[in-house]
Amino acid sequence: MSDRIPVMIPWLGQAEADAAAEAVLSGWVAQGPRVARFEQEFAARVGAGHGVAVSSCTTALHLALVACGIGPGDEVIVPSFSFIATANAVRYVGAQPVFADVDLETGNLTAETVEPVVTGRSRAVILVHQGGVPADVGALRALCDRHGLDLVEDAACAAGSRYRGRPVGAGAQIAAWSFHPRKLLTTGEGGMLTLDGADDAQRLRRLREHGMDLSAAARHASAGPVFESYLETGFNYRMTDIQAAVGLVQLGKLDAMVARRRELAQRYRELLADVPGVRAVRDPQYGSSNFQSFWVLLDPALFPGGGRDDTLRRLAAAGVSARRGIMAAHLEPAYQDTQHVSLPTTERLTRDSLILPLFHTLTSAQQEHIVDVLRKPADR
Ligand SMILES: *Cc1c(COP(=O)(O)O)cnc(C)c1O
Repeated sequence: MSDRIPVMIPWLGQAEADAAAEAVLSGWVAQGPRVARFEQEFAARVGAGHGVAVSSCTTALHLALVACGIGPGDEVIVPSFSFIATANAVRYVGAQPVFADVDLETGNLTAETVEPVVTGRSRAVILVHQGGVPADVGALRALCDRHGLDLVEDAACAAGSRYRGRPVGAGAQIAAWSFHPRKLLTTGEGGMLTLDGADDAQRLRRLREHGMDLSAAARHASAGPVFESYLETGFNYRMTDIQAAVGLVQLGKLDAMVARRRELAQRYRELLADVPGVRAVRDPQYGSSNFQSFWVLLDPALFPGGGRDDTLRRLAAAGVSARRGIMAAHLEPAYQDTQHVSLPTTERLTRDSLILPLFHTLTSAQQEHIVDVLRKPADR
């Protein structure tokens, strides 16, 4: 096996290249008609009333917290076990991220892990569908209703995942999505907010465009002179029409992407079934994952003393680009001054897990090669 196996390859092709070229040649390259269409089609796909396209999931999370009215003195409960953007968004609005632990099976917050960190200053929870595994939104919704908290869903990884028979995002108060190439559906960089309320969607559209009461597209469409005004301090978090053109093609492939990833995940699980000390991520009973990240948790008894890092090194030596598992924000220098409850499951998961390569052109022979490397310490 001479070629290195990467951890992810985006599923892009000629159709995306043609769509981007068509947008360029149309002369409309900034936010315009293709962004509006992408918003409508993406929102419909995830079962939400409205979509508001933005420049990334990070900026989507920032706007979601602005829309919830969160600011200095407020606390927002987040998992430490997430990409750092989840916690950073809370700091962008001057609020305090409060870390809660996660469930060992799913890697997600649960009502049981969130309840103990709710205080009188709690204003919201950011619930992450980590790696595409749907979180138990219903239980969190009930907890948030009880305490009067907003519930923001960080669905960066979860396009195409399902929760109780519906797409993740359906019925969400507000959900934030990522179109970074490390996720399934990509626009290079990009993000989206989805929600049901028309007024909130309109405000979010303003906030992403400097707080302006008229969009650039509306000004362009008007025959007479137009005089916009700026209703509040907004941001430039727009998506371009070139990105949306690519996104529309990608959206048409989302079902195929999810089906392919689920097939490959199933194959991994079959291959790993007889490998001692390796537990693979799987669907929770209440939903299904798009397997944006296929992670495995190593048993430290069978992979002792830095066994995960040693396994990553052995994979690298065998030509396999695996990754450490999901990070834990509270262990990073940027968050070392943060008070938090003990987070034993987060620390176990981030120390002992790793992410295996998963992309549409991964072959059975490559999967067997990867699993053979994991099998070795158990043979000794
Ligand atoms: C990738 C990711 C983000 C950030 O997405 P960007 O589009 O790169 O800003 C936020 N939250 C989670 C859980 C992610 O995995």
